Amino acid sequence: NSYFTEIQELPPDPLFGLKARYSKDTRTDKVDLGIGAYRDNNGKPWVLPAVQQAEAKLAKTPGYNHEYLGIAGYEPFVSSAAKIILNGDNKDVLERTVSVQTLSGTGSLHLAGLFLKKFYKGSNALYLSLPTWANHNQVFASIGFDVKSYPYWDNDTKSLDLNGFLNAIALAPPKSVFLLHACAHNPTGLDPTKEEWSKILEAMSKYDHLPLFDSAYQGFASGSLENDRFAIEAATSASSPIKSSPIIICQSFAKNCGMYGERVGALHIVLPKDLVDLKPAIKSQLNKIIRCEISNPPAYGAKVVALILEDKALYKQWTEDLQVMANRIKSMRVKLRDLLTNKYKTPGNWDHIVDQTGMFSFTGLNKDMVERLERNHGVYLVSSGRASVAGLNDSNVERVAQAIDEVVR
Ligand code: PLP
Repeated sequence: NSYFTEIQELPPDPLFGLKARYSKDTRTDKVDLGIGAYRDNNGKPWVLPAVQQAEAKLAKTPGYNHEYLGIAGYEPFVSSAAKIILNGDNKDVLERTVSVQTLSGTGSLHLAGLFLKKFYKGSNALYLSLPTWANHNQVFASIGFDVKSYPYWDNDTKSLDLNGFLNAIALAPPKSVFLLHACAHNPTGLDPTKEEWSKILEAMSKYDHLPLFDSAYQGFASGSLENDRFAIEAATSASSPIKSSPIIICQSFAKNCGMYGERVGALHIVLPKDLVDLKPAIKSQLNKIIRCEISNPPAYGAKVVALILEDKALYKQWTEDLQVMANRIKSMRVKLRDLLTNKYKTPGNWDHIVDQTGMFSFTGLNKDMVERLERNHGVYLVSSGRASVAGLNDSNVERVAQAIDEVVR
């Protein structure tokens, strides 16, 4: 044709393609362990009680409307979101931070990428953990970063390859960008311990790299918002080894508020003391990018989440809701491990299922096993062997264990 060059049809996105195959499958006992979205014990999406209550309250607010937000988003949401991820008691950090609302976590990563691409004087190399959330790669590659990876998961020991990670930090060009999963690492469910984090941050500081935290699961790893911001606090507090580099945080409320489709998120840029004067300039440049890309962010979800973060009773409800989700997932991990180990005596060690945190388990099942699970048993997970544990419940965990046992033997 004389209008478009080399426009080729691409294969479906692996995760959304899997979702489509699952929807088409007519088997009544099929199980979806694909997409990272929480399901209740009946396998249904869960509107958190805190969200239900906040929505009811919002609808009754005098003057409630659907007007445009400002370019940087809904201010009560943006400032409360910063306090939740950065520790609201730490005024020093909050004063050094520029925050704007974004289109959930993905929009935050993309905005961070655009901002860095335009203004960061450091290296164009951006390092992702191996493995990582599949979308990281294309978000940053499409902006023009030289996307590389650092060792993370040691498949033999099913634990963190700390030496490989530290080595990559040492060998990367100075002032590279390192994307760090704040907690509940996707896809492995494996987080560094506190001691390991301190070694990672020391090394980041020594080689002057820029930490870019992706926080998509705060509250999902431990059930506690405070515990799950440990790494971010360690990087941003006064005692952090990172003194000279800015620190970027991409925050999503998709999972921890169950607001997946409402696209509620924020970008925070924490500046070192000597760069604080740049705050107004940075904010204005972020606003310019936002204005070009989306004009202004969506209002509804931000207003709901702001109410939850600001209202004491709603906040308490939310912390309880988070524990309900985290605990149900933990109990499913234990059930699956126990069934494989004790009931089916499935070859191999399955303790990693319990040791991992957050929504996912990196099962260790290979591509062939995953294919057979889908074909022969109607159990769907991504080809890397990552299972969304939130898809398990009391009615299907036994069947899933039996299916895993069959494909492993
Ligand atoms: N980062 C990680 C590690 C994720 O797993 C996800 C979603 O699955 C996101 C970011 C972005 O999520 P959202 O754009 O829905 O907030």
